[in-house]
Amino acid sequence: MILDNFEYKLQYRTATRSIWRCNQSNKTCLCKAKFMSFGRSIRIKSVAHTHGPTFRGDHSELNSQFVTIEFGDFYKDRK
Ligand SMILES: [Zn+2]
Repeated sequence: MILDNFEYKLQYRTATRSIWRCNQSNKTCLCKAKFMSFGRSIRIKSVAHTHGPTFRGDHSELNSQFVTIEFGDFYKDRK
């Protein structure tokens, strides 16, 4: 998934939500940026990338989706 020209890879998925992590998070670049998607919403926990944008392709070749974006902890709505 691409968000603001940063590419994310799926880290894990549950029945209702998916956790996406910056695809630059590896041994050489410890980027901790991640977000959670559920339905048509995205909750961003951290957007502080340790590097520049990674996506340099053509947006017109992508499947775009309109989503609601909020910021906060992933589990703040858990009772
Ligand atoms: Zn990153």
